[in-house]
Amino acid sequence: MRALVVGGASGIGAALAARQRDDGLDVVVWDVIGERDMTCDVSDAAAVQRAMTETLDGGPAPEVVTVCAGIGHAGLLTDATPDEWDHVMGVNAKGSWLVMRAAAQALMAVGAPGSIVATSSVSAHIVDRNMGLYCASKAALSMVVKVAAAEWGPSGIRVNAVGPGPTDTPMLGGTLPGTSWLEPVEGRTPMGRIGSPEEVADAIVAMHALGWVTGQVLDADGGLGLASPVDSYGWVQARRNQPSSPPD
Ligand code: NAD
Repeated sequence: MRALVVGGASGIGAALAARQRDDGLDVVVWDVIGERDMTCDVSDAAAVQRAMTETLDGGPAPEVVTVCAGIGHAGLLTDATPDEWDHVMGVNAKGSWLVMRAAAQALMAVGAPGSIVATSSVSAHIVDRNMGLYCASKAALSMVVKVAAAEWGPSGIRVNAVGPGPTDTPMLGGTLPGTSWLEPVEGRTPMGRIGSPEEVADAIVAMHALGWVTGQVLDADGGLGLASPVDSYGWVQARRNQPSSPPD
């Protein structure tokens, strides 16, 4: 079986490509950097078309397609520029749709069924200041996935997404011990840590395997999305754990 991993040269995509190769799939990787079979900037419609044509020249239409390509962005909504909006939406939302569209068209042309998984984020539904453009791009992607599932289901094509929480990949960047905003995030995650790219790849593999599931976004976040801003129980626990004052 042929698999396509877009953004497969790094992080979650690289972990998925390695896992799928181990599972015996014939994996084609598109990316703009790193180890790849084809160079493709997903935000460029002509480049996506070219990469799909080249991929089809080399074999059958990929039946297992994963879009991991994505970029992060930090900036307050008052400071971000229209060009930054276009760039973030262009890669994360439009780019993912262009790949999904090309993959679906290739499958439909030969009447083959398939499975497409996009990589959204918990940021599609969690409100984080300074991440508005990224949150909006992932919310758009999660909705595109649902509409695509409804449109392409009759052709035997399932479309789903995974929504990672903070995951240990180059996207998060290296931070000095003791200075990372990630430390309290670990504490707020029921599993007590951030995820690994292999764990998110496991969730993607599972989504591809679930033949009766389409149009779903599965958060792979160690339960981070369960955190409540109220959390009165956590407040009580934190007070209980405070060192008691020494006796007089
Ligand atoms: P990463 O930076 O390690 O990998 C992203 C890959 O996408 C890279 O190989 C990069 O070259 C590629 N890419 C970027 N722009 C591209 C473009 N225009 N065209 C083609 N390829 C492009 O990051 P990652 O953490 O593995 O991210 C994978 C996906 O997971 C992204 O969509 C990201 O938004 C999402 N995600 C990551 C986290 C996290 O904490 N790491 C959390 C939630 C969602």
